[in-house]
This record gives sequence, structure tokens and C-alpha cells, in this order.
Amino acid sequence: MPGARPWPNGKRCALSLSFDDARPTQADYGFPVLDKHGYKATFYVCFRDLDARPDLWKAAHRNGHEIGNHTVSHPCSGKAEWSRHNAIEDYTLERIARELDDATAKIEALFGEKPRTFAYPCGERHVGRDENRRSYEPLVNERFLYARGDGVLTGPVPVKVQGTDRVDLDRVLQRLDEVRANGGWLMTVGHEIAPKDHPDPLTTDHEMLDALCRNLAERGDVWVAPIKEVAAYVKGA
Ligand SMILES: [Zn+2]
Repeated sequence: MPGARPWPNGKRCALSLSFDDARPTQADYGFPVLDKHGYKATFYVCFRDLDARPDLWKAAHRNGHEIGNHTVSHPCSGKAEWSRHNAIEDYTLERIARELDDATAKIEALFGEKPRTFAYPCGERHVGRDENRRSYEPLVNERFLYARGDGVLTGPVPVKVQGTDRVDLDRVLQRLDEVRANGGWLMTVGHEIAPKDHPDPLTTDHEMLDALCRNLAERGDVWVAPIKEVAAYVKGA
């Protein structure tokens, strides 16, 4: 770990690029940009596009991108209209455990490898409501090496998470400079990867991503790696 154990090859900090839900634009715009620069990212997947275009996703995995667990049905709070039919408040620990294991089985069947890291859908870490509300973090922690954004397992390594949807390059670089100043680990989170005018507000501008990759190559002192690799390094696994 930094301090006791510096980042590999004299790098000053670590950066993991991550994208959620396996939106089709990730394969259309994201893979080509990342592959052009040779950077490997982490994809916390849902299965609609994977089932529609398995070959594209398998090629990305073979090429070194990480496929992470994000549950099968992506339960979020029923306070959001679109999630009411599959509200996390209606889940028990047993039901969410099945979701985690079913997603792992689907990923293993498709890619021949179990996912090692997890991202909480909508960042929601509890099931049930009122007096039955329970954290499902213990279920996640016993199944995975690391859950995105968790500081608990990383000891002295400062961890930061920065969104990239509708965020400009300066903002991301500013965050990177902060993390670099204290030898930490920055994880970015995005959804669609597409031209700026894509209608979904959860869109990372593919030209911004391209410019970020160029900037990282110029700096040369940032360790860019998937979340599972950095987590394994930090944990000494
Ligand atoms: Zn998601």
C-alpha cells in the first residue's frame, strides 16, 4: 500500500474507469475509445445487451476488461417510479443473495470466469423497510473481493469516486490531482458512453473519455487498471 507499499512501477496513484448496466453505447463507443489507448476498464453489467451481443462482450473480456457483478434485475428504491415493480425495499436478505449468485452464475457461464467485484445498483446497500431494513453488505463482502467505493477494505489508501456522466474533463482531472496528491485510488463511474447530445442524462461524453485517456498517457504516472486488479493489489491478494 502507498506508504508501506507504493503503487507499482513508481506510479503516484491508481485510477479505475468503470461503467454500469452494460448499456449498448458502451460497446459501440466505449470499447473502441478504451482499446485505442490500451486502457482496461470495469463493466458492472446488466444482461440485456450481453444477451443480445454476447460476442462483442466476450471479446472485450478477452481483451482484458473486467466484468463485474451488478445483480440480475438491478433492484433500486421503490421511491423511484421506474423501480417500483422491483423495489429493493421488497427484498429480503435471502432474495438479494439469490440475485448476487444468479448474476455470478450468468457471468461465469458467459465469460468462463466468476466476477470478483461488485457495484451496488443505485448505490443502495439495504433491503427491507422500517424495522426489517437490513444491510446486505455482509452478503456482498463474503462473495466478492471488493465492492466499488468501499473504503473499509482498503485501510490507509484514500478512496474517491467521481461520476463521469455529463461531467467535463477539467472536473475529472481536478479530482485526479487531489487523489494523486495523497497517493490514493480514484474510481470513475459512468453509464452511457456516447456523443454529448445523447438524450440520457447519464451519459459520459465519448470525446471527453478520449481526451482523458490521452491526458493519462501524457502524465504517465497514474496506474490505470480495472477495479479487481487494484483491489487485489491493495489487499495484497
Ligand atoms: Zn446500475
